[in-house]
Amino acid sequence: MLERFKLVKNIMNARVVAKKMKHFAELLLNKNKLKSKDQVPFIKGKRGIEIKTAREVKLIKKSSQIVSKVLSEIIDLIKPGMTTKDLDNFAERRIREMGALPSFKGYHGFPASICSSINNEVVHGIPSKNKIIKDGDLVKIDTGAYLDGYHGDSCVSICVGNVNEEIQKLSNVAYEALFAGLDKIKAGNTLLDIAGAIEDIVKKNRFSVVEDYTGHGVGRNLHEEPSVFNFRTKDLPNVVLREGMTLAVEPIINQGTKYCKTLDDRWTVVTRDGKFSSQWEHTIVVLTDGLEILTERNI
Ligand code: MG
Ligand code: MG
Repeated sequence: MLERFKLVKNIMNARVVAKKMKHFAELLLNKNKLKSKDQVPFIKGKRGIEIKTAREVKLIKKSSQIVSKVLSEIIDLIKPGMTTKDLDNFAERRIREMGALPSFKGYHGFPASICSSINNEVVHGIPSKNKIIKDGDLVKIDTGAYLDGYHGDSCVSICVGNVNEEIQKLSNVAYEALFAGLDKIKAGNTLLDIAGAIEDIVKKNRFSVVEDYTGHGVGRNLHEEPSVFNFRTKDLPNVVLREGMTLAVEPIINQGTKYCKTLDDRWTVVTRDGKFSSQWEHTIVVLTDGLEILTERNI
């Protein structure tokens, strides 16, 4: 019986793998369709975790500050009645006005410059003129900018108008979790130190940490090694932090279950139980005795 179960399981795994590969192939196809001269390049070559030079950190900070400026402006701008497409148009215009390219546009075929995920949408929400922002919505805006060969990446959760207390708390706890994780960052500490601090804050508040998505290294590519996970795990490398690592730390926390699913548009990820989700993200550089937040919004 056990063998048969194994066989069935293997067949199912093969089907899942085949489906994923098809999905990936289609994304690549899509990517090629969208290719244009002003699209961010994918830098091949170096593998593994890159330690950035002071010059590189300066450049990542420049891109990061464009991201933080755009997010600050969106926080001021957003109001009920606007569409997520309005915000995307604004973000793309501002990123380009500041001389950068939108990191997300065309990335694996993603069609926009921001991810806009509302309420039960967890990540990768596609901006649309049909998505009207309402009073009481929790809107996550994630964006990236690419300038002089380097990316910056940040995400905010915005409570629009009168958001109920529990949802406000969810956003506050996600923010607190991000900063609890950032507090652990200094050379010599590990990714598990960050993850443990994040997980503890979230669990103490009886919310859940999404495990399907993690933070990442950031630099010449938007997503680099290592995976900056937000929960205790032995499945991902527990890297020791070193001065000059540039990381995007981005806990995603859910009001209810941690489990998520992807909608038919192949991008938008939603909670399985329909409850709300919140995320905050900063790009940082590891220092010997701490860190610098490169996407800090009040600089
Ligand atoms: Mg991001
Ligand atoms: Mg990121």
